Amino acid sequence: MGEFDLIERYFKRADRAAQRESLVSLGIGDDCALLSPRPGTQIAISSDMLVEGRHFLSTVNPAALGHKALAVNLSDLAACGAQPIAFTLALSLPSVDEAWLAGFSSGLFALADAHGCELIGGDTTRGPLNICITIFGEVPVAQPVHAPSVGGRTTALLRRGAQAGDDLYVSGTLGDARLALEVFRGTVSVPEEVFARARLRMDQPTPRVALGQALRGVATSAIDISDGLLGDLGHILKASQVGATIATEDATTLIANYSYLTGTSGTIDSEVSEKRLGWVLAGGDDYELAFTAPPALRDTVAAVAAHANTPVTRIGRIDAQPGLRLVGANGQAVANTWTSFDHFA
Ligand code: ADP
Ligand code: MG
Repeated sequence: MGEFDLIERYFKRADRAAQRESLVSLGIGDDCALLSPRPGTQIAISSDMLVEGRHFLSTVNPAALGHKALAVNLSDLAACGAQPIAFTLALSLPSVDEAWLAGFSSGLFALADAHGCELIGGDTTRGPLNICITIFGEVPVAQPVHAPSVGGRTTALLRRGAQAGDDLYVSGTLGDARLALEVFRGTVSVPEEVFARARLRMDQPTPRVALGQALRGVATSAIDISDGLLGDLGHILKASQVGATIATEDATTLIANYSYLTGTSGTIDSEVSEKRLGWVLAGGDDYELAFTAPPALRDTVAAVAAHANTPVTRIGRIDAQPGLRLVGANGQAVANTWTSFDHFA
């Protein structure tokens, strides 16, 4: 099978009704795709690359990989509060493995269709397995009512808007992907069903797209957690020129396997239990959102989170004083010994 047959067979889908109604004016097949942004909107753009041996193992299920490759990109749109429109796929493959391509494209399109996000182009070459997706989303511009001609202010959620006094929140759960990784590494062992749940979170993360959009106009800053909470929060603090205090007791409730790890449903594995705070604070690959919002908007945050069907937990606050502080249940300082992932560190 040649390059063009491969694209035709696995990535080009005939007569897309959804595409006609979306902002995609031209999809796969020409030298460029065409997007037609609506007046009063901006296009949010992000790329993420997945490299075999670095981000995933050759043994990973291809459908899960298709899901994850798109999920990490959707997560970036979510962090900016953008609505997904379309994406491109640049694929380097060692060979044409039809079973792999069928699995990969089915996982990819299942998630794409769930978010109304259209594959509009890409590139296909021979080489080491490498998957690069560029995604496009839409965010409204807030037009000044009295002077529309001066142009509007973006409603995108950015890293730079956190204010001293804001609450700090995290969506969903953290630490599960890291738990699965540690089981793979053989450093911990947990019951089969705990591992299965954690592994699903590692292989098929849920991008918080609805929550991100619901937080426009509510959150003052946001980021998606890919490298670990402390490291990613550090980007918000730097961009916003503020500091933060995290209540570690509140943070540990974020772990999905909390009930197991604390022993309320089953036996306590003290070794695992000890490590859990580190997994929550610095385990990567969870693709949740960390965001800040003024305390006056606590009810609003709860309402939009409920509307987006996504739990959120308040774990700390933003301070004027730079730096990141951890405090325990009695307000005592907790030493921060964790580091987040850095490809070149
Ligand atoms: P060009 O030579 O102009 O770069 P290609 O021959 O690489 O174009 O691609 C032909 C068409 O197929 C283009 O519309 C391109 O966007 C699309 N395409 C190529 N690879 C992929 C892929 N992996 N997924 C989706 N579309 C692809
Ligand atoms: Mg090309």
